[in-house]
Amino acid sequence: MPYTEQFVTSFQRWSDKTFSFKTTRPTDFHFENGEFVTIGLRPEGKLIARAYSIVSSNDADHLEFLSIHVPEGPLTSRLARIETGDSVWVNNKATGSLTLKHVQPGRHLYLLATGTGLAPFVCLVRSPEVYDAFERVILVHTVRTVKELAYKDEIESLTGGRFFYVPCVTREPFRNNIRCSDLFKSGELFSMTDSPHADPELDRVLICGNPEMVRDMRNHLNGQGWTMTNHSGVGNYSVEKAFVVHHS
Ligand SMILES: Cc1cc2nc3c(=O)[nH]c(=O)nc-3n(C[C@H](O)[C@H](O)[C@H](O)COP(=O)(O)OP(=O)(O)OC[C@H]3O[C@@H](n4cnc5c(N)ncnc54)[C@H](O)[C@@H]3O)c2cc1C
Repeated sequence: MPYTEQFVTSFQRWSDKTFSFKTTRPTDFHFENGEFVTIGLRPEGKLIARAYSIVSSNDADHLEFLSIHVPEGPLTSRLARIETGDSVWVNNKATGSLTLKHVQPGRHLYLLATGTGLAPFVCLVRSPEVYDAFERVILVHTVRTVKELAYKDEIESLTGGRFFYVPCVTREPFRNNIRCSDLFKSGELFSMTDSPHADPELDRVLICGNPEMVRDMRNHLNGQGWTMTNHSGVGNYSVEKAFVVHHS
């Protein structure tokens, strides 16, 4: 059976639109840091499942997820109400395009996220392997309101040395009021972090965000001579949409 029943062990609200939760981890469930897995609920016996990036690193004994709350969403309208001890069904196969294997080795690693697109990058920056692989790791997270800066305190506690965190808020006053894609495209990100301009020969980029941001960054990087990772090979940048827009 591809799904196993796991149990909620903790739940945290970040904002009216976002929350995180931890569950038990299935035995024999393996994944690479940065991957996603399909998880679901069985409200009336029938499984409602969606893709979720795994926030917890692969050496943790539990699983952790960061979720949007879509009030009319088939899954998240229910997931937002889960409590400790409730069941969550977890698929046994993880996959994705945001692991360290999805970019060539390099100098600096840029992680660009909007909204819940932060999830796979929390996993990556929590684990030592990313700092072994890159001289610098620069995480940029854009959200609308300050409260949506999930994991901000934990991420800030990891900064210093080779890790840089650049939180951005677009709809409330905040020290950075600019989108992550605009920060990267304008070059402001490099002066802010005292880094040389990103270079496709040396640097690598992982992107996880809303479909427009992903499209915008792809167009920009392709125009600057970057090569996206796909079935024909590992390039110097890789992307994943943080969600797919469904048209009813
Ligand atoms: C590869 C992949 C990884 C994903 N990882 C995560 C994750 O880690 N956390 C997470 O919350 N969601 C993630 N999603 C989205 C997730 O699969 C569901 O769409 C989401 O949980 C909403 O489910 P739903 O049934 O409530 O609503 P759905 O019917 O799935 O979605 C309804 C609408 O809500 C909007 N929407 C859906 N998800 C988001 C989102 N995350 N942010 C903003 N708007 C959204 C879209 O416009 C969509 O059309 C991922 C999707 C993909 C494809």
